Amino acid sequence: MSARLTPLPLTTLVTTDLTGITRGRSFPTDELEHYQATGCGWVPANSALTPQGAIASSSPWGAYGDLRLIPDLASRVTLSNGPDADAPALDFFHCDLRQTDGSPFGACPRTVLRDELQRYRDQLGLQVNAAFEHEFTLHAGCAGHQPFSLQAQRQAAAFAGWLLGALRAGGVEPEMFLPEYGTHQYEVTCRPTLGVAAADRAVNVREITREIGRQMGLDLSFAPKTHAEAMCSGVHLHMSLLDLAGQPMLYDAGTDNGLSNLGQHWAAGILHYLPALCAFTAPTPVSYERLQPHHWSASYACLGQQNREAALRICPTVTLGGKSVATQFNLEFRAMDATASPHLAMAALLIAGRLGIEQRLALNAITDEVPDSLNDEQRKARGIVALPASLAQALDCLRDSAALNEWLPKPLLDSYHALKTEELALTEQLSPADLCEHYARLY
Ligand code: GLU
Ligand code: MG
Repeated sequence: MSARLTPLPLTTLVTTDLTGITRGRSFPTDELEHYQATGCGWVPANSALTPQGAIASSSPWGAYGDLRLIPDLASRVTLSNGPDADAPALDFFHCDLRQTDGSPFGACPRTVLRDELQRYRDQLGLQVNAAFEHEFTLHAGCAGHQPFSLQAQRQAAAFAGWLLGALRAGGVEPEMFLPEYGTHQYEVTCRPTLGVAAADRAVNVREITREIGRQMGLDLSFAPKTHAEAMCSGVHLHMSLLDLAGQPMLYDAGTDNGLSNLGQHWAAGILHYLPALCAFTAPTPVSYERLQPHHWSASYACLGQQNREAALRICPTVTLGGKSVATQFNLEFRAMDATASPHLAMAALLIAGRLGIEQRLALNAITDEVPDSLNDEQRKARGIVALPASLAQALDCLRDSAALNEWLPKPLLDSYHALKTEELALTEQLSPADLCEHYARLY
C-alpha cells in the first residue's frame, strides 16, 4: 500500500546579493534543526552574478570553493494563508555568507553592514535606526490612474489589504500604502528599525510584495523606470542616529536647520563621497534614467530642508499634539533605487557618514532651491557637485575613492567591479527605452 503524497512545507535560507537579488536554497521545514547552526552550502562565484543571471567572465572566484549560508535565527519571515489559499507558505531566513570553517566571507553584503554597524557602536557610541520606502509599478486595474487618487487606491485595494496584512504578519511593521504620481505607481512604507534588520526589512518588503503579486496574478516591478514615459520609482532611505542608550543624536534645536553638529559632519560625509556611493545606491545603467534633474530623485550632492530635489533631505517633523521633534528628526537619502543591495548601499552610506564624523567635514552643500537652477559659481561656492551621469562614471568614481576602497573588503569590490563590467557590456546596445523594459523584467 502506498501512502498518499502530500507536498512538504519548505524553508529557504537566503542571501540578498550584491545586485540586490535574493537567492537561496530550501529544505523541508521539519528539518530546520539540522540547518540551524551550520546552514547550507553556497558557491563563491554566485557573488559575481549579474542581474541578467550570468556569472561575470572576470569573476575572481572561478569554479572553486564552497561557502555556507548561515541563518540569522532572529530574521525569519513566515507567511501562510495568502490570497491564493493553495500557495505554499513563504518561509525564509536571512543569512550571512561564511567560509566552511565559519570565518567571514569577504564579499557578503550583510556581513559588511554588520561590521560597519559594530564600528558605529565601538568607535562612535552610536546605533542606526533606518527605514527604506519603496515605490513600485503595479498593474492592478485597466482604468487610468489619477495621481494620489482614491480611484487608484481602490483599483489596488485588494492587493493593498493583503500586502499590509502580509507585511504585518512578516514582522515588517508596515505604515502606509499609497497611490503615487505615476500611472500604476504605488508606494509602501514601514516603520524604522535598528541595525541590520532595517536592510533585511527592505528585502522583506520587496519579496512579500512580489509574493502577494504572484498569488494574485498581478504584474509588478520595483525597477527605477519601467518604460520611456514612466514616472521613476525610487527607494528612499530614512536614517537617524541614536546613542547607545537610545537617545536621538541628529537633532539640535539651536541650529538653523535643526541638524546637530554630529549630524552635520555625518551628512557632509555622505555628500562628500556621494559620487562614488552612487555605484552602490544607483547601481544599474537604468538608475541614471532616474537620477536626473526635476525627477524628485537627485542629480547633485546636496542637502535640502524638505527639498525633494536634494540627495539628502531633512524630513518634516510634526509638532502637533506636542510630539517630540528629536525622536522624529531624520535624514532621507533619495539617490537610491531598488536595483541596489539594501545591505551594501546602507553599509557604504554609513562608512561615508562615519568618515565625515571622524574627519569633521563641514556641511556646505545645502540648498532649498532646485540645485539645477543654481549657476555653476553658486554651486561651486557651496561645494555642490553633480552626481555621475552613468553607471560607468559612478564606477570610475568608486575606483578613485581611496576611502571607500580602504573600508570595503577587496573580495567584495573585485566581485562588484567584475559583475558591473559584465552588466555594462550586456546592456550597452540597449536604447534608453529598451533599458527601461529590460530592467522592469529583472526587478
Ligand atoms: N518618484 C520619486 C523618485 O523617483 C520620488 C517621489 C516622492 O517624493 O515620493 O524618487
Ligand atoms: Mg513617493
